[in-house]
Formats: sequence, C-alpha cells, structure tokens
Amino acid sequence: MIQLFHVKKAYPGDAPVLDDITLRVEKGEFVWLTGPSGAGKSTLLKLLFCAESPTSGQILIGGRNIGRIGQGSIPYLRRNIGVVFQDFKLLDNRTILENVGYALEVLGASDGEIRERSLKRLAQVGLDHRATSLPRRLSGGEQQRLRVAQALVSSPSLLLADEPLLSLDLAHQRGVVDLLDARRLGAGTPVVFVTHDINPVLHSVDRVLYLAPGSWAIGTPDEVLTSQTLSRLYDTEVDVLRVRGRVVVVGTPDDQHVHHVGEAH
Ligand code: ADP
Repeated sequence: MIQLFHVKKAYPGDAPVLDDITLRVEKGEFVWLTGPSGAGKSTLLKLLFCAESPTSGQILIGGRNIGRIGQGSIPYLRRNIGVVFQDFKLLDNRTILENVGYALEVLGASDGEIRERSLKRLAQVGLDHRATSLPRRLSGGEQQRLRVAQALVSSPSLLLADEPLLSLDLAHQRGVVDLLDARRLGAGTPVVFVTHDINPVLHSVDRVLYLAPGSWAIGTPDEVLTSQTLSRLYDTEVDVLRVRGRVVVVGTPDDQHVHHVGEAH
C-alpha cells in the first residue's frame, strides 16, 4: 500500500533527516512511528502527504509513484489521505459541522450527505452537541477530536496522524485510537500514527517504525523495543525493562523518551 525505496530527505546545509529508508506498509497495517524529537517523524508524514519531496528515492502510495505526479494532481491524491496534523488550521469562520463537511464539499457531495456524514463523525468523537459552534470556542482537546472527525469523514485510503492524542484525557485517547483502529480493520486503511508513548496504542500496533538520528528500525514492538535494537539505534547503551507488564526505556539521550508499554508480550 505504501512503499518507500531508498528515501532520503536532507534540508539544505544539514545532515540528512531521513537516510536510505526502504519499507512497505501493508493494507490495514497500524504503524506506530516514533523516535526522539527532531528525528524526522513529521518530515516523513509530510513526504507521504506530498507536502515535502524526498531529496532522493521513491515513494509509492497505492502503487502510484507520488514523485511522478504533477503539482496539479497533488490535491486529488490528498483527497484520499486523512490527516491529523497540528499545523493544519481549522476554518475559523465556519462552524464545527462545516469544518468537518468541507472535505466532502470539495468532493462534490450533496448537502444532505455532507450533513449526515459530518454529524456521524462528530458524534463519534463526542462533539455533535457543538456542531454549530465555531472552532475557537473549543478547548485544545476538543479541537484535536474535531481534527480526527475531519480526517475520517471522507473515507480515506490512508490515515496519517501526528500526535493526535495531545491534550486528550485517557478516555478520549482511547476513543480516538479505537476510531482509527476501526477504520483500518473495517476498510483496510493503513494508519501511520505518531505519539510519544506507545501505551495508548499498544493494543492496535502491528509494527513500530523507530527513527533515531542517522538510523532507523522497523518491526513488531517485540522486535524493536529491545535493549539490543535501541542501543544500536542510539549508539549508546539503552536498557529496555519489563516491569509489571510494562516496558520502560532507560538511557536514551533525551531522558523524556520513556515508553510505558502496557502489556509486554
Ligand atoms: P520530529 O517530527 O521527529 O520531531 P521533524 O521531522 O519535525 O522531526 O524535523 C526533523 C529535522 O528536520 C529537525 O532537525 C528540523 O529542524 C528539521 N526540519 C524540519 N523541517 C524543516 C524545514 N522546512 N527546513 C529546514 N529544516 C527542517
């Protein structure tokens, strides 16, 4: 479904952020994308969304080489991608319902269909009672849930989520993860999900894509979240401890980077 061949991304004057990444994300796969701050997680999502171009290498989405499509075709490609990106602005002068429906409006859906599908998605994120409010009236967590409703409304064939759990309490975190999970299980939509802590997504994750400065790894959580793999990635001694069914990573250079894995296998 998504294929990367020797993808490299370097910004001018800096060492490559992503270097020689080759991987394949299958239909219906849930990939947890992680790594320390600055490792290139957002950059990778932007490449998949055609918001940045690779310096070299190729990216195929649904068999299409996205480096070969013209600028004019990019909006059409994006219509099939649901995104939860922090830096995407909400439409300030439109209601919450209209914010969700906008993607369907662009697709030319009828007014009735737009309303029905938008309300359904708003209900799923617990915001249907705010349908006529303006986005600025929402809290940070409610805005996050609105973004999730927007990402799902047009039945995307790929979902990209950059820290979608920010500002959410545990119940809403679970709700958001379950919604994205339902989409990939029901429709086979691959999900690439960035979050710092694996705990809220562990029950859904098929594979972990771990980016570290100058290095990366992909595999199941059991394959990647090991002392051996993380020590190799960070080029320093890192311990992965399993304590009471949780996994804690100790010794990474950014000491905030601690995972709590709810259920060790
Ligand atoms: P992450 O999401 O893992 O925190 P990013 O993908 O945001 O990492 O950034 C990776 C690196 O690329 C950082 O060093 C960042 O400063 C740099 N970077 C990101 N976008 C740009 C840009 N448009 N121009 C120059 N450097 C950038």
